[in-house]
Amino acid sequence: MATVLGCIADDFTGATDLAALLARSGVPVSLRIGVPVDGSDDAAPFEVIALKCRTTPVGEALELTRQAFYWLKAAGAKHFFWKYCSTFDSTAEGNIGPVAEMLMAGLGVNQTIYCPAFPQNGRTIFMGHLFVGEQLLSESPMKDHPLTPMRDSSLVRLLVPQVRAKVGLANHLVVMQGPAAVKARLDILASEGVAHVITDAVSDEDLKTIAAATADIPLMSGGSAIAGQLPRFYAERGLIEVHVRKYSGAAPKGGQIVLSGSCSTMTRKQVAYYAGKSASLRLDPLRIASEGVGIAEAWLQERSSKEPKLIFATAEPEEVRKAQEKLGLEEASQVVEKALASLARLAFRSGVRRFVVAGGETSGAITQALGITQLEIGPEIAPGVPWTFAQVEGERVALALKSGNFGDEAFFENAFALLDAA
Ligand code: ADP
Repeated sequence: MATVLGCIADDFTGATDLAALLARSGVPVSLRIGVPVDGSDDAAPFEVIALKCRTTPVGEALELTRQAFYWLKAAGAKHFFWKYCSTFDSTAEGNIGPVAEMLMAGLGVNQTIYCPAFPQNGRTIFMGHLFVGEQLLSESPMKDHPLTPMRDSSLVRLLVPQVRAKVGLANHLVVMQGPAAVKARLDILASEGVAHVITDAVSDEDLKTIAAATADIPLMSGGSAIAGQLPRFYAERGLIEVHVRKYSGAAPKGGQIVLSGSCSTMTRKQVAYYAGKSASLRLDPLRIASEGVGIAEAWLQERSSKEPKLIFATAEPEEVRKAQEKLGLEEASQVVEKALASLARLAFRSGVRRFVVAGGETSGAITQALGITQLEIGPEIAPGVPWTFAQVEGERVALALKSGNFGDEAFFENAFALLDAA
């Protein structure tokens, strides 16, 4: 079957989040890790390509996303979705804007929308300003993110330096008036040469309005929540059939581990909670940089595969800053990502088949290290975080890839409990 919607995600947890929300429709979703090397004969109606290009240099991000775009086009996609984080994680240069402009050029369209809102997870946009819960983005814990500290909340101001064409806003007063008003606003902005339109949304109802107004445009961009609204409109147009979904295949039975490289506030709470309930080991980037990962490997090998285990580099902002000052930002991240990736490989060799991974970049490093190229989407543990299933060296493994601030305090425990019940 030809692909209806082709999605490109700028990180791995973002891709699973998007796949989970699309899968709520019951329509088959295929999640590919990296640009597939094979053809698109087995393409699903919803295809999601997970890239690791949120913080890479712009040129590299453009090259990767361009390849993903061509693959999706070959799979038959007529609609495209560029997925980034609900907290608009980006550097001063991009890569949200540059990739959107490349995709617009590829599709020959002169306008797209930007809607990272995810009301179920407390991400809302009002008058172009992004809120995390009750806080402005720039006052939220995202201001201390190790790689993409967000120090402004105005999406218009954040996007302007990332793009060549004009940026505008369809604000909440417009969205409240319904799809026709949103369409009219987009037309006015287009006549003024505005190519990039931020859309306010504070509720799922707003997202539905925006999706109703924009479901036919070839390119949309934003978070998973707006994408999750699209299936119903595709169904209305006869492009897909929505139905109740059944999961194929059982959950693997082997041992379990939590690997956390996320330093986000919610992950810090989750790690503190789970550390009291499992064998746990903290990784210190400075120690690993000087001594290697041998001590952690020895610790892991001493544990049985079934025993609940947690290995984390998760740290308070002050500690992260110290590591970054000593090692440099890039090196500090790389040291941690490489260590967790090699521990994931060792865990697999020791019989672990259930992995919970915290952190978008961290998930990218770990899935790559395990050689995973495709994920099947399973049941949702928390909004936007599904269990996924994959083959590693011919063995079925379960992975939950959790973005930093998703889930509640008991997420790790709940994740394994859900798998036991599946
Ligand atoms: P999130 O989903 O919370 O943004 P990510 O995994 O995407 O998490 O990003 C966290 C980054 O911080 C990773 O690159 C990780 O390697 C790095 N990191 C984790 N722990 C530390 C630490 N103690 N010091 C410095 N950097 C760290």
